[in-house]
Amino acid sequence: MARVGTVTLVGAGPGDPELLTLKAARLIETAQVVVYDRLVAPEILAMIPDSAERVNVGKRTHHHPVPQDEINEILVRFALEGRDVIRLKGGDPFIFGRGCEETARLAEAGVPFDVVPGITAAQGASASTGVPLTHRGLARSVRYITGHCKADEMLDLDWAGLADPETTLVFYMGKATIRLIAQKLMAHGLPGHTPVMAVASATSAQERRLDSQLDQIEADMAEHGLESPVIFLIGKVAGLAGRRDSFRLIAQARDLRAKEGCHA
Ligand code: SAH
Repeated sequence: MARVGTVTLVGAGPGDPELLTLKAARLIETAQVVVYDRLVAPEILAMIPDSAERVNVGKRTHHHPVPQDEINEILVRFALEGRDVIRLKGGDPFIFGRGCEETARLAEAGVPFDVVPGITAAQGASASTGVPLTHRGLARSVRYITGHCKADEMLDLDWAGLADPETTLVFYMGKATIRLIAQKLMAHGLPGHTPVMAVASATSAQERRLDSQLDQIEADMAEHGLESPVIFLIGKVAGLAGRRDSFRLIAQARDLRAKEGCHA
C-alpha cells in the first residue's frame, strides 16, 4: 500500500519567532510541505527550507482566504500523495484556529496527524505588556472568547455569566464588535470604568497598546485606528500599567504639555 504522509498542526505563536517551541522550529526547518495562514510572521516563514513546497491558504485572488473545506482537502491530498505536511497556524492551533475541523477531516480520510501547541495571542499580549491574566485580588479566572459574529447575527454570548468583575475577559476577533461587547458587558453590570486594554500585533515589532475603559473603548479605537490583529483584555488586570507605552498616557502627557505651554 502507498505510504500516507502525516499532517502536523503546528502553532506558530503570536508573532515573535523566538516564541516558537523547539519542536515547532525543528519541524518548520525540516519541512517538505508547509500550508500556512495569514497570521504567521514573515520571520517564521523565512525558516522554511527553499526545497519545501509552500501553500499560502491565508490569501488568494481578491484577498479572500481559501475556504476551510478546501484547506482540509489540500491537507488530505498532500498526505495521500505520501508527503508529510506542516500545517502552520497563528498562535495555538486549537484556540480559535479551526484546528479540529482539520483533524476531524484527516481522521475521516485515514491520515495520521499530530498537534504541536503554540503560544496563544492572549498569553503573548499578556507577557509583552507585562499585564497578568490572573492576579490575586483582581482576577480569579480568565476566559478566552470569540468576538466574531456573522454580519446578520448579534453576538450571542452568556453576557450575564461574562460580566464578572473578578474574571479577565480576553476577546479574540473583536475589532469589529467591540462596541457591542462593551455595551453588553455594561448592560449586564460591569461598570463603565472597567479597564480595557487593546493590543495590536502583540509580541511583534509593530506591537501597539491602547489603554481605555468600557465606556470609552469605541471612541478610543476610532481615534487611534489600531491595525489588525487586535486582542482585547477586559477586567481589573487590564488597568495595571504593565511596561509599554500607551496611546492614552502619551495623549495625556501631550495635553498636559500643551496646557503648560511647553512645545517639546
Ligand atoms: N489561534 C490563534 C487565534 C486565531 S483567531 C491564537 O491562538 O492566537 C485570530 C485572532 O487572534 C485575531 O483576530 C486577534 O484577535 C488574535 N490575534 C492573533 N495574533 C495576535 C497578535 N499577535 N496580537 C493581537 N491579537 C492577535
